Amino acid sequence: MASLNLRLNSSISSKIDTSTIFKLKNGRFNACNVFASLNLDTKTYPSTKVKLGVSKSEEIMAAEAKYLVGTYARAPVVIERGKGCKLFDVEGKEYLDMTSGIAVNALGHCDPEYVNAIKEQADTVIHTSNVYYTQPQVDLAKRLVECSFGDRVFFSNSGTEANEAAIKFSRKFQRHLHPNEEDPPAEFVTFTNSFHGRTMGALALTSKENYRSPFQPVMPGATFLEYGNIEAATEVIKRGKTAAVFVEPIQGEGGIYSATQEFLQSLRSACDDAGALLVFDEVQCGLGRTGYLWAHESYGVFPDIMTLAKPLAGGLPIGAVLVTERVASAIAPGDHGSTFAGSPGICKPALVVLEKIMKPEFLASVSKKGKYLKELLLQKLEGNKHVKEVRGLGLIVGIELDVPASPLVDACRKSGLLVLTAGKGNVVRLVPPLVISEQELKFAVDILSECMPVLDIEEPK
Ligand code: PLP
Repeated sequence: MASLNLRLNSSISSKIDTSTIFKLKNGRFNACNVFASLNLDTKTYPSTKVKLGVSKSEEIMAAEAKYLVGTYARAPVVIERGKGCKLFDVEGKEYLDMTSGIAVNALGHCDPEYVNAIKEQADTVIHTSNVYYTQPQVDLAKRLVECSFGDRVFFSNSGTEANEAAIKFSRKFQRHLHPNEEDPPAEFVTFTNSFHGRTMGALALTSKENYRSPFQPVMPGATFLEYGNIEAATEVIKRGKTAAVFVEPIQGEGGIYSATQEFLQSLRSACDDAGALLVFDEVQCGLGRTGYLWAHESYGVFPDIMTLAKPLAGGLPIGAVLVTERVASAIAPGDHGSTFAGSPGICKPALVVLEKIMKPEFLASVSKKGKYLKELLLQKLEGNKHVKEVRGLGLIVGIELDVPASPLVDACRKSGLLVLTAGKGNVVRLVPPLVISEQELKFAVDILSECMPVLDIEEPK
């Protein structure tokens, strides 16, 4: 690893204060600042090199700022390794991970059985393309079908791609259903606070205006309705017009909002009446996170299509679209595809993840821990003037604040706890590995409550 090496020069080194040099600019480290404020070019001084007080984290963050496209406002932590629910940065600092890679590492970090599956498959064959058949892909699809409403599976590489496939399948389904119509139903209904991804189709169904507006025109034909508004949905979902309705049974990015049973039931009925498909996006809330294998099971309402991704391969990239036979029958070879998707290198470890999560005792433990977490949060945070609501199901929990959550998130991180934001930045999102212990949950809530006073500090004007 390269380090920032400079010629020893007291007049220079005395001026160096890395904490001010390595400023976060727009949430990113600025490498240029380092060199500009020192006013020298390291290449000019190649001889006697002395390492200044620049940490390994700072070096990596500076290099990131120089070499990567600035799409992420990252937290200033450089992770080196993980074990269970702990992460360690390159300086060896330990963090309790209540983020699990944004609801991905359901089994925590480095689960031995999962790691072995990766190693074994890597030693066998990692990738073949979908030109050929492989056993792990078929095994994973079979298991997903056995434990869900779905009859068939399409694999993709991410959540956004799963939704993109669901959009195409919905349009193709309608075309197949109305072979003699010039304009079969092609429109989509989606909801406030929705997040379905960042490709042009999935983005068109994502509510956040500032995610969409720089990239207009996105896919036309999406109507946004208020999440939970049964009347609006019944009015807008129309025969001859609506191809499909996309909805998250529990919204993650949007701020941890759960649908009501009546709302999902009314969408089901409206779709049936209009001949539209009902698509549940369970990319974040699915696969055991709620204490149910599928979030929609808790509502007793079933979709025509469900999209999955995040935890399915425990951290390796995967997405999946589960469809009924009726939907699958509209799809023909060549309609959609992917070079990487469903590779044996990913499906084999995904099977390990799925088998573990779907066990009734595993799901029951998620429910129990979810209740415990909410109880602790209510106990410790109740009465705090900034806490508006604690909500969620199982281990997808949101704490809504009346102020931005980022000072609290930063303070928690400094105290060794990683948490996320959601919503309009005013919600603390807790999506820990599903294997987290009650002791770890207590530790997390203790840190959170100890850090709450940071919300009382007024920002300097
Ligand atoms: N759908 C939902 C509900 C999500 O939460 C996300 C990501 O956060 C996506 C889709 C997009 O998934 P990905 O980031 O894997 O493309």
